Amino acid sequence: MTEPTVPITADVLAVPRAEPAGGKRNLVGLTRPQLRAALIEAGTPERQANMRVGQIWQWIYQKGVRDFALMTNLAKEYRARLADAFEIRVPEVVARQISADGTRKYLVRVAGGHEVEIVYIPEEGRGTLCVSSQVGCTLTCSFCHTGTQKLVRNLTAAEIVGQIMVARDDLGEWPEPGRHPKDETRLLSNIVLMGMGEPLYNFEAVRDAMKIAMDGEGISLSRRRITLSTSGVVPEIARAGEEIGCMLAISFHATTDAVRDKLVPINRRWNIETLLEALRAYPKLSNSERITFEYVMLDGVNDSDEDARRLVKLIAGIPAKINLIPFNEWPGAPYRRSPEERIKAFANIIYKAGYASPVRTPRGEDIMAACGQLKSATERARKSRREIEAEAGLGSGGASGR
Ligand code: SAH
Ligand code: SF4
Repeated sequence: MTEPTVPITADVLAVPRAEPAGGKRNLVGLTRPQLRAALIEAGTPERQANMRVGQIWQWIYQKGVRDFALMTNLAKEYRARLADAFEIRVPEVVARQISADGTRKYLVRVAGGHEVEIVYIPEEGRGTLCVSSQVGCTLTCSFCHTGTQKLVRNLTAAEIVGQIMVARDDLGEWPEPGRHPKDETRLLSNIVLMGMGEPLYNFEAVRDAMKIAMDGEGISLSRRRITLSTSGVVPEIARAGEEIGCMLAISFHATTDAVRDKLVPINRRWNIETLLEALRAYPKLSNSERITFEYVMLDGVNDSDEDARRLVKLIAGIPAKINLIPFNEWPGAPYRRSPEERIKAFANIIYKAGYASPVRTPRGEDIMAACGQLKSATERARKSRREIEAEAGLGSGGASGR
């Protein structure tokens, strides 16, 4: 049998993204230097520009204001001038679903009519927002619903940071006057870049958006409360540490190259050894800042005791925690979730080797909001089950590798 050809590529379809008529520039997602330059271009005196950036950021990201007229610490004429040149625009929410367990899923529309999903997961003492970085994904991990979507484009920084703003709109979480922006009891206290897309294939936009999320005059979340998950884009990993500095999660999912090649096809370009080398060199490695290894539990594919033992051997020396994710099914998925007993036995081996091994509770399954289930409802360019199986290197014999 010939090896199936899987696009392992950062190339994205060039989908036109026309700015709406009128051509006002959106201030959301601009970095500090970009906003400064835009303000100067619109007539702000240079010596005032830095101060104006801080003021405007606070209105946008801390108070949730979308109307320049409400920015009362700016002169009236200046507000009018800003309103002429700029706008404050976030993605449009087209659907919202709330799961029985409180998980919320938003379908939002971005420029060009494309849609992405955002998931809000409330937990005891914190609330995590799962943010998307691309429309679809160019990678084709065989267990992931997003990977079956054909149309792909990168989201802009505005569209990424806008997802956080949309969720805060819905949660009603724009601080009342006087409330401290760094209040740690926030409903939206954590961000994970674990929605649709491969964040390291959209590096600049993800970086710029996360800088705003971490900035004290922006969304002001600590970098320790932001986790970027990558399937293993090795050349960008060090850069993520240096330029973003958030927490890192790796979609590991297999303990041999043969299996990982099928599950996470990017492994054919950067294999397990190369990936682990990059992780050992990751700049911020300490015991308090461990790398999370995500491991999806697929029945009969990657869930044996032998796999568990190999896993702990492979990651020896890397400050790590291992997050076991019970496989979440989606229509046409070529795998089944490992039985609970199997997951427990696997977790136990890892725990005994000295690693935290939390099993991720699937959240929002009833609304298809769980990991790997995301895929915009209106996306029609679907691959068939046969195509998915062929790309996974699975014959008609089904998912079981043993
Ligand atoms: N593209 C990035 C981030 C998004 S996926 C990445 O792959 O890391 C977030 C996590 O969900 C990844 O670990 C991914 O492998 C996992 N995942 C994908 N499909 C899944 C499914 N059907 N069930 C459980 N986890 C899944
Ligand atoms: Fe893309 Fe991540 Fe899904 Fe793989 S698991 S197809 S990298 S979104």
